[in-house]
Amino acid sequence: MTELTRRSLFAGSAAAAAATALGTMPSFAAAPAAGKQAPAFYRFKLGSYELTAIHDGVWYRDIDAKFVGNAPWAAVQKAMADAAMEPGKLQIPFTTLLVNTGSKLILIDTATGGQLAATAGSFTANLAAAGVDPKSVDTILISHFHPDHINGIKDKENKIVFPNAEISVPEPEWAFWMDDAKMNAAPDGMKPAFRNVRRIFSDLKDVKRFEPGKELAPGITSIAAYGHTPGHTAFAISSGNQSMLLLSDTTNNPWLFVRNPDWHAAFDMDGPMAAENRKKLLDRAAVDRMIVQGYHFPFPASGHIVKTSATTYDLAPVLWQPSL
Ligand SMILES: [Zn+2]
Repeated sequence: MTELTRRSLFAGSAAAAAATALGTMPSFAAAPAAGKQAPAFYRFKLGSYELTAIHDGVWYRDIDAKFVGNAPWAAVQKAMADAAMEPGKLQIPFTTLLVNTGSKLILIDTATGGQLAATAGSFTANLAAAGVDPKSVDTILISHFHPDHINGIKDKENKIVFPNAEISVPEPEWAFWMDDAKMNAAPDGMKPAFRNVRRIFSDLKDVKRFEPGKELAPGITSIAAYGHTPGHTAFAISSGNQSMLLLSDTTNNPWLFVRNPDWHAAFDMDGPMAAENRKKLLDRAAVDRMIVQGYHFPFPASGHIVKTSATTYDLAPVLWQPSL
């Protein structure tokens, strides 16, 4: 067998190109380059429910030694190198989940509204590509009040995007972010997040608040997973004899925080509590072999959690399913 080297590979393609140029191979008209990405939505079934993961884009966030408070910077850099990430640039993708129960369309989290990073904001276009009119969304469930989860409720002109949807949010999240005393006492760096919560919610009528732990819609139960924020909520979804776990921001990028569930990301307001809940949910997903969806997992943002040691896990991403 001939050894395929980089050199012979290039020599081969050069020869092929030359042959084409000489007209010894059939030549077709040059196709114009598409110049843009394909629509990004992914469907799967859970019992009788049809779920659609809808991508919004990626934020390439510069991080430094302070980003993971309780791990050496060298270990964080190694975890990033192991996942082929550019040094110091964390990939943070955004993927929301739309649940069609057969009688209701339920959207869980609403993406960035194009207001967070130049490389994100394609949620609306992808929703349209999936054939969904924002007017047809009946219910919006919110996991927590960080801007990448709530900003899509309104467009850049502050107009509501889902005019017919009832919006439900975790009560402890509302209690924290809408509290003026908490806003005034917060460090300056956090004040914009408080103001953003007010921009989104203050003039909305009938925002429903739920106590995490409750069933919010048939087959959709909220799970208290505090720590990332004071009211951060995950969700269990079940239909027929199938169930899945929507992890929300229980972990950020999985190559860092599923593999190292003890690490405290700068995004986690209470690092130890976030890590505790992260390990609990990752363990449950691994033991029960449940499909999980993670808001900041690589698109389509779902897969299984596998245990790799007594204290570590990994994400086994889902394989694209050609049929439902
Ligand atoms: Zn997030």
